[in-house]
Amino acid sequence: MDFSFTEEQELFRKSVREFCEKNLAPHAAGIDENGEIPRGVIKDMAGFGLFGITISEEYGGSGADITTAAIAAEEIARADISMATAVYYLVEAGWGYLFEKYGTEEAKREILPGVTKGDTFLGIASTEATGGSDIASTSTLMEKKNGKLILNGTKTYISGVQEAAKYGGGYVTIVKTDPGLGHKGLSFCYLPVKDQPGVTVNTLKQMGREGMSNGIINIKNAQIPEHYLIGEWNKGFYYAMEGFNCARTLVAAACLGAAEKALEAGIDFIKERNVFGSPLAKFQGLQFQLAENYIKLESARLLVHKAAWMLDEKRFSNQELNKAVAAAKLVAPTVAFDIIREVMMWHGAYGYTKEAGLERGLRGVMSYIVGAEGAQNIMRLIIARELLGKDYSS
Ligand SMILES: Cc1cc2nc3c(=O)[nH]c(=O)nc-3n(C[C@H](O)[C@H](O)[C@H](O)COP(=O)(O)OP(=O)(O)OC[C@H]3O[C@@H](n4cnc5c(N)ncnc54)[C@H](O)[C@@H]3O)c2cc1C
Repeated sequence: MDFSFTEEQELFRKSVREFCEKNLAPHAAGIDENGEIPRGVIKDMAGFGLFGITISEEYGGSGADITTAAIAAEEIARADISMATAVYYLVEAGWGYLFEKYGTEEAKREILPGVTKGDTFLGIASTEATGGSDIASTSTLMEKKNGKLILNGTKTYISGVQEAAKYGGGYVTIVKTDPGLGHKGLSFCYLPVKDQPGVTVNTLKQMGREGMSNGIINIKNAQIPEHYLIGEWNKGFYYAMEGFNCARTLVAAACLGAAEKALEAGIDFIKERNVFGSPLAKFQGLQFQLAENYIKLESARLLVHKAAWMLDEKRFSNQELNKAVAAAKLVAPTVAFDIIREVMMWHGAYGYTKEAGLERGLRGVMSYIVGAEGAQNIMRLIIARELLGKDYSS
């Protein structure tokens, strides 16, 4: 057993941290206030090799493993704890990985280089109004007609709709291809957004992650080429589970980054702040909280890094992977939320100000508690299903 990163991974972390502190952190407050990640930041991140990090070099990526991608997710979220930039990064890393693994060569050559260059956006469109947790109930229909794929339906709460509509790009999209077959009648395709006849988007105002849009994709007789089918017809459910394992691990890693940054800010603050003639850090009440938060963070870190490592090992069963990833995704966002909340309280009234910057972390991390990349109860159901066996699946 070895709990350390490789020398290469440590160097990578150091260089991403330096890059993010210089090029991303100074924009973090503006990203939240202006509701957009500046294109210059996106291009800089792409130039550094962060977009499509898991995508192979032949499509402009770096072909990194999930552990390396998770290190980058942590560092990006440290620099922008609102999670907006982390979301942009991690959906591309998680779902880009899936696209490359199962997409057609023609589609990959057409779409992935734009993503890795930071010109276009690649997201995931799974959720529908009938309940994001119940993927089998997907009703967006895809049919084959005259050598084209025709799509009809609505996807909702989708991250990046505005970015995709404005700058180009699209979604790894889950669709129903055989309505009689439940989860076995689902497929995956790539759905472009910008300039795609039959596709329009609306945005939904949210409580956080202001720099990254979220909204609805309306799909009415959208025709896409057959080579936009990802993987085999009616196998979409299984690809979705694989993609979610990847994306959820990166979500959990991003939450670690935000929690770590907040805790460090808290430590600095309580050492500096004098109340009752003494630094707050000398009061045992706060020391106990600090120790508890450290333990929570380290426990979450072990779960997240183990999940990433297991995905990279490529020798664990789907059941083992599902359980490990669900545990990481269940724990890390809650730990991050609890730590940021407590650190806010250490800051007193200042913690409640925008200037302190902690509240945007609280709002951002909450998105992962509510359900982005899978609701928390669904993580619990996955863990219970893998522990009890399919016969007891609820
Ligand atoms: C900020 C944000 C960004 C998002 N971005 C995307 C995106 O880019 N692409 C995308 O496809 N989706 C996205 N989503 C949607 C997300 O995937 C869904 O929120 C999630 O899958 C849950 O679906 P739902 O919101 O419809 O909740 P529901 O499925 O309706 O669930 C509601 C509540 O019931 C609980 N619940 C559901 N079923 C059970 C059960 N069987 N037992 C016990 N409890 C249960 C859930 O835990 C949840 O708390 C995003 C969501 C958010 C908040």
